Amino acid sequence: MASFEKHDLTGQIAIVTGASSGIGAATAIELARAGADVVVNHRHSEEGAARTVAMIEALGRRAVAIQGDVSLEADVLSLFDEAEASLGAVDIVVSNAGRQKDARIGDMTLDDWNAVISVNLTGGFLVGREAIRRFRRKGIRPDISPAMGKLIFDSSVHQVIPWAFHVNYAASKGGLHLLMQSLAQEVSAERIRVNAVAPGAIATAINAEERETNADGMLKLIPYGRIGDPADIGRAVAFLASDASDYMVGQTLFVDGGMTLYPEFRGNG
Ligand code: NAD
Repeated sequence: MASFEKHDLTGQIAIVTGASSGIGAATAIELARAGADVVVNHRHSEEGAARTVAMIEALGRRAVAIQGDVSLEADVLSLFDEAEASLGAVDIVVSNAGRQKDARIGDMTLDDWNAVISVNLTGGFLVGREAIRRFRRKGIRPDISPAMGKLIFDSSVHQVIPWAFHVNYAASKGGLHLLMQSLAQEVSAERIRVNAVAPGAIATAINAEERETNADGMLKLIPYGRIGDPADIGRAVAFLASDASDYMVGQTLFVDGGMTLYPEFRGNG
């Protein structure tokens, strides 16, 4: 029987979507550091995925890069097929892939809306559904973990903080929140744990322009006084994937330097 307090992921197989860069890459590496072998999904960044794979292999773990667009059902099914064929039955799935396509509401096209919803929300559904199907097929392996599987979504502080000029993104993460909780309610009796992380501002490509032009403005929203590092999120995901969090079900772990404390209201607001 695996030890409940351990953060150790030895013997477990993980899939991380969108793992060629940013938070996904850092998460794949942190899972490997904890002992997992990792499938590095990417949409079309072979070079980035190869970098993540090399870093995992340097940690002495197995890794494989698999291309696939999480918004396409056929790609998600073949991602899981190829993952199982390469590394074996999957214990941990991190639905991390996401994107932004910002516009003021009057200028936001239906394509802008669909581009974000199809990856952040529909992608979460497709990856989550397939994870649950595969966990069921694998069953519980009590020598590995008391849980049949661990599904973790990469949400955002914008699942609760409204975000003007980014309504497609905020709506996708708000939807992801109830997708995560409803899935957890549906499958937790089978010992499948579904949880989420909600990052604040983390230094990745998704906000490179904002960090360049408005770093001071961003820092005003972060009581802890620094932009987050992708590894800050990777470590939180590794915790949610481990038996150390075995009694956590349907929760969102906010990793945001205090952004959801609404620091604008400190003092007299
Ligand atoms: P990023 O742009 O570096 O990573 C996003 C990854 O998703 C990229 O590797 C991209 O190729 C991949 N991706 C996009 N569309 C895809 C698709 N259709 N299929 C497969 N992969 C696809 O940015 P990031 O900050 O690392 O973002 C990772 C996740 O973290 C996203 O879900 C994002 O919404 C969330 N997040 C980021 C921040 C932040 O401040 N960086 C804050 C909150 C939430």
